[in-house]
Amino acid sequence: MKLDSKIFVAGHNGLVGTAIKKALLSKGYQNLVLKTRSELDLSSTIKVEEFFQKEKPEYVFLAAAKVGGIIANNTYRADFIYENLMIQNNIIYSAYKNGVKKLLFLGSSCIYPKNAPQPIKEEYLLTDTLEYTNEPYAIAKIAGLKMCEAFNLQYGCNFISVMPTNLYGENDNFDLNTSHVLPALIRKFYEGKLNKSNSVEVWGSGNPRREFLHSSDMAQACIYIMENINFNDLINNSKEIRNTHINIGYGSDVSIKELATLIKNIVGFDGEIIYDKSKPDGTYQKLLDTSKLNSLGWKPKITLEKGVKEVFEWYINQKK
Ligand code: GDP
Repeated sequence: MKLDSKIFVAGHNGLVGTAIKKALLSKGYQNLVLKTRSELDLSSTIKVEEFFQKEKPEYVFLAAAKVGGIIANNTYRADFIYENLMIQNNIIYSAYKNGVKKLLFLGSSCIYPKNAPQPIKEEYLLTDTLEYTNEPYAIAKIAGLKMCEAFNLQYGCNFISVMPTNLYGENDNFDLNTSHVLPALIRKFYEGKLNKSNSVEVWGSGNPRREFLHSSDMAQACIYIMENINFNDLINNSKEIRNTHINIGYGSDVSIKELATLIKNIVGFDGEIIYDKSKPDGTYQKLLDTSKLNSLGWKPKITLEKGVKEVFEWYINQKK
């Protein structure tokens, strides 16, 4: 990628897209193509094809997706599979037809089997049953990474798939019904503090473990891969052609209880934590094995504590 290369960041207003846009600009990339949802409907095949023909982007970060937490995934099952398949099919196919030099497809760690051995290696993909709460989303993401792989093998494209762990950061979704756990807990503890509540409710048993990566670390990893890695390097680096995707993670996880305590302390809430066991726990653990990415030369920098402090500050500044 050159500093004047034409780069399309699909989903630049989302959690990762925002961070990718910011990181690209701060590295001096000047030729970004950005379209809001009202300017370009990514689920429309015709509109996406017209956009690619007109703009001819050279590089594509495919960070657009319908995403959400455990309840949203389980409730809007049809929307999660349909919208994600449409967005990624349109962009990946148009990228192939219009000669995009390199595309980065962002997936998720939920593509792996529910009971995968930990930490999860890339080759555990499709070896067992998925977690049911987010199966529609996971199947769409698996289709996306297989589509990239198939276009690379059949048509010589250079489409790379990355599977991030749970991400958090600025511009996250703080809606309590649809958000992921980390922003939800920041909001719940903050509101608990403002309202002087005696307790805050945390879903599930608190025992599941999750790994969290800050979105600006994720953006750095994405740009590093776009700048330095090609599909052929991944064939050489992977044990088999079928698992050439790359995990992007922090490298260690915490229990939801540990996360809740950390956030409670950072926010300064001094009431009690109550675990609502009527809400689902989801997968017990999904810690990614990041040795492939590490061997390709990239490591994260932002600790969970520092990251949560930053996001909390961002959140309260938004409220002012
Ligand atoms: P997941 O990683 O796909 O399961 O998605 P989430 O981030 O939504 O949930 C992770 C874990 O945090 C699950 O065990 C949830 O039950 C738990 N959790 C605890 N409190 C909350 C909350 O307020 N919101 C969400 N979304 N999850 C919570």
